[in-house]
Amino acid sequence: METKHFTSRAADRRPGALNRRQVLGGLAGLGAVAAAAGHVRTAEAAAVRTRARVVIVGAGAAGIAAANRLVRLLDGASITIIDARREHWYQPGFTLVATGVWPQHKLVDDNARYIPAGVNWVRSMVAEYDPDANRVVTADGQVIDYDYLVIAPGLSLDYDRIEGMSTDLIGQHGIASVYASPQATSLSWQVFREFAERGGTGVFTRPPGAIKCAGAPVKVALLNEHRLRQRGGRDRARLHYTIPATGMFSQPDIDRFLKAEFPRRGIEIEQHHRLLRIDPPRREATFATPEGERTIAYDVIHVVPTMSAPASLVASPLPWQEGEHAVGHWLEVDMYTLQHRRYPNIFGAGDINGVPMGKTAASVKAQVPVATANLAAMIADREMTMAYDGYTSCPLITEVGRAILVEFDYEGKMVPSFPFIDPYTEHWVPWVMKDRFLQAAYNAMLRGRV
Ligand SMILES: Cc1cc2nc3c(=O)[nH]c(=O)nc-3n(C[C@H](O)[C@H](O)[C@H](O)COP(=O)(O)OP(=O)(O)OC[C@H]3O[C@@H](n4cnc5c(N)ncnc54)[C@H](O)[C@@H]3O)c2cc1C
Repeated sequence: METKHFTSRAADRRPGALNRRQVLGGLAGLGAVAAAAGHVRTAEAAAVRTRARVVIVGAGAAGIAAANRLVRLLDGASITIIDARREHWYQPGFTLVATGVWPQHKLVDDNARYIPAGVNWVRSMVAEYDPDANRVVTADGQVIDYDYLVIAPGLSLDYDRIEGMSTDLIGQHGIASVYASPQATSLSWQVFREFAERGGTGVFTRPPGAIKCAGAPVKVALLNEHRLRQRGGRDRARLHYTIPATGMFSQPDIDRFLKAEFPRRGIEIEQHHRLLRIDPPRREATFATPEGERTIAYDVIHVVPTMSAPASLVASPLPWQEGEHAVGHWLEVDMYTLQHRRYPNIFGAGDINGVPMGKTAASVKAQVPVATANLAAMIADREMTMAYDGYTSCPLITEVGRAILVEFDYEGKMVPSFPFIDPYTEHWVPWVMKDRFLQAAYNAMLRGRV
């Protein structure tokens, strides 16, 4: 693969760089461009007349987007969505709250505003899958039969696999974690804000295995380094970024960029470090390394847990039984059609999918049209023609006000949606997109509009 060079800092001050008006003009067309760029291969079919019972598990980004698409794709179907959570969390905003850019309230919405009329919402959790009998059982004992199932319960955050760690500790003893909840992200900002002023030793962890938004641990480390510079603590701070092996990011150009950027900003990359336990009162973290256990004393630690399929799915016959995706018990779907490989009336969408790429909301945007259109094609007894190409994206924030818009596919190839943004340039444009525009695009996705 050709080596790409990143440009930063003064890049947007060079002659010919975009001005604000050009950018805003471009962003006005964002929806259209994104739709046109769509990372799916054919147009959707007209509505299919059916009396099929379709059940969707999970009312997060993927489940709600799927519900909104299916009410338009299927005429006469009975559609049920199952999820006990009433709040909708805008997770791509978590890093902005945890670094003091946004207030917490911007993260929380109401699922009822997005679940379409005519869809039956069962406010419970799926406790059991029985794909041989085409039914699921909820935690409160409801048995729900289906003809077709869309599985979209996101993933489980395995904090309990780190000895001494619990989400109750976030905000205390220098412990931060942006992944757990909107409340946890706010508490994390309190921890980081104090650190930015005082300095000390900061440890930023990254677990092994697939995680949602693999850019988030990186963004948190880089933004903390920037906050330290802004608030005076940088000279008194030592920063460690721990990774389980040698890679920092799956896309090779970004991996190279980060391996140069972290040392340039004085962040020490600790390879082959896997967090085993923490001792909160003593503020010590112990890692497994090839040389044995290593304990690092910290003032602040950003804990990122391993992630896996929710327990009810793990206990079912539906996860991969072997291969790399069996490790997290991810759903065994075909990586292109998103259809279950052993139960053809089941499709997967979002973080739960055991595919090589794509635990982001950006991937949800690309996956849901594929899974729902293929499901509709199956109901209509037509050939499935839609294919997911592995599209995933992350505005990789490097400091407050600057980011790189990283978009790539299964092959690791950069696939920029916006011709006016160079994917190899650290720039203020992706920052403005992340800060001001992507939440609206996300909400449009929930409503099935992009
Ligand atoms: C810190 C952080 C930063 C991120 N940054 C970005 C970013 O910059 N860009 C980006 O594109 N993406 C980002 N993401 C990732 C993005 O938010 C997720 O990939 C996306 O939300 C996945 O959608 P989902 O529907 O699969 O899961 P979720 O949106 O997590 O929804 C899952 C839903 O399923 C429900 N559920 C769980 N178990 C069950 C059950 N047994 N029965 C019924 N319902 C169940 C849950 O209650 C939840 O409502 C970020 C995520 C985090 C945490």
